[in-house]
Amino acid sequence: MNQDVEKLWELQTVLSQLGDREKQLTNKPESFAAVDREWQNVNSSMERLREQIEQHSKERRRVDGELSDQQELLKKYQGQLMQVKNQQQYAAAWKEIDSTRKHVKELEDSTLKTMTDVEGLQKQHDDLEAGNVDLKSRWDTEHEAWQHSLGDLRTEVEQLKAKAAMIEASLPERLRREFHRIFKQRQNVAMAKVVADSCNGCRTRVRPAVMQQLKRGDLVHCEGCSRILYLEMPPS
Ligand SMILES: [Zn+2]
Repeated sequence: MNQDVEKLWELQTVLSQLGDREKQLTNKPESFAAVDREWQNVNSSMERLREQIEQHSKERRRVDGELSDQQELLKKYQGQLMQVKNQQQYAAAWKEIDSTRKHVKELEDSTLKTMTDVEGLQKQHDDLEAGNVDLKSRWDTEHEAWQHSLGDLRTEVEQLKAKAAMIEASLPERLRREFHRIFKQRQNVAMAKVVADSCNGCRTRVRPAVMQQLKRGDLVHCEGCSRILYLEMPPS
């Protein structure tokens, strides 16, 4: 039996386990993912409310500026009213005063409405923020549980890495390189078992002559996918 092929097979097994564990490390468990989604939603709602409040405040500053311009104008017209010389000038001044007053009233109404709107938005924001204290503590609990479980997984990953390094160190350099070349090209699977006279990686049939080579313990590649074939020997 070819010791190198056995070692390569063991290396493949270890690397496959390692790949699984590393994938698990990046997956959020559903218990955490659920509370995390809730947390993200509340935070983006709060963010949207803050943006709306900011927009309203900007609009209010603009209206306030216009309001004080109009109030100045109103004073000016009222001053002119004192200096009119005839009925016609009097009527004209009144007309200006009247329309400016209307405008001032509109601007004041608009400011009032903006203030009411901002109060409403601020209340929504504060309610969310108050509820967030409880949500944050649930988030922390789930996050900690997840991180704790990752600790065990990380230990396992380190052990598998050490095992892979040990096997690789015992392999001839040429074989090690060949293995990794195929590993990269074939979705991290460099070796395929022979099952029912076929390659388990690509289902290509293994010819009888190749089966003979395998039984002798030769290192043989699949003719379909180039993976190194592994024939499980019955225990002798
Ligand atoms: Zn194959």
